[in-house]
Amino acid sequence: MTQMNYTDKIRVAIIANGKYESKRVASKLFTAFRNDPKFYLTKKNPDVVITIGGDGMLLSAFHMYENELDKVRFVGIHTGHLGFYTDYQDFEVDTLLKRLRLDSGSKVTYPVLKVTITLLDERVITALALNEGTIKRVEKTMVADVIINHVKLERFRGDGLAVSTPTGSTAYNKSLGGAILHPTIEALQLTEIASLNNRVYRTLGSSIVVPKKDKIEIIPKRRGNYIVSVDNRTFSYKNVAKIEFEIADQKVSFVETASHTSFWQRVKDAFIGEDEA
Ligand code: NAD
Repeated sequence: MTQMNYTDKIRVAIIANGKYESKRVASKLFTAFRNDPKFYLTKKNPDVVITIGGDGMLLSAFHMYENELDKVRFVGIHTGHLGFYTDYQDFEVDTLLKRLRLDSGSKVTYPVLKVTITLLDERVITALALNEGTIKRVEKTMVADVIINHVKLERFRGDGLAVSTPTGSTAYNKSLGGAILHPTIEALQLTEIASLNNRVYRTLGSSIVVPKKDKIEIIPKRRGNYIVSVDNRTFSYKNVAKIEFEIADQKVSFVETASHTSFWQRVKDAFIGEDEA
């Protein structure tokens, strides 16, 4: 009998939210992986991260492993309705296990957003986003110049601005009136949050899609408190000098599954539902 070497095994991390159903699915997976010599359960340097919950759980796991994106592949199990980052529903655990046992490492990758915040005291903070980054001013109207590849496009006035990834285009971006982008398109989308438009103040009004390598810079014109959000996390900064958005060098990888090919079906299921009879 040949014994599998520790390093030959697929290192699997299981991350579940606190819901009863998620814990039940997690326990089933723990038992299956513990009894299978192909897998090694660990939260350290995993090859595959399985999330159990919803899109929010996958966003959290992404941030837990954002420094290991070159190695990690994610797969999401939804314990409610099918989400955008979750390919499996709770009753499909056996199908997932079967596919992972046959897994050869195939993956699909999508762009990730790099957010760079420069404060007036010259501190620089960087973050990666899977869905989007936003900047809003708290007390008063946000006044900011929008610069794309060194071209000053407009002086924005309103609540704030959001920049989304292609996979994030179905999230906050959609609620803001942005377009849905197919996730394989390497582009970012800039969307306004309640812009002021009248005879005095003017912005483009529509969202814009910029290609890979184009950089979006937002330069706030007033001192004060700003809220910067990166997916499900928010940060408060005083006196932001500049915030830059560009496609990151890193990409996010998912274990390839059949459902990854049916993005438009997913859009239909999430936002439209069944056709009328
Ligand atoms: P959450 O888990 O309650 O998520 C909010 C909703 O967004 C959920 O229904 C989730 O399924 C959905 N969602 C998340 N990513 C998605 C995606 N890529 N495509 C389609 N739907 C998606 O809350 P959370 O964990 O704080 O999630 C943070 C996300 O919520 C943010 O990244 C942002 O995109 C979204 N959000 C949306 C609004 C809005 O639509 N007005 C406002 C704030 C945040």
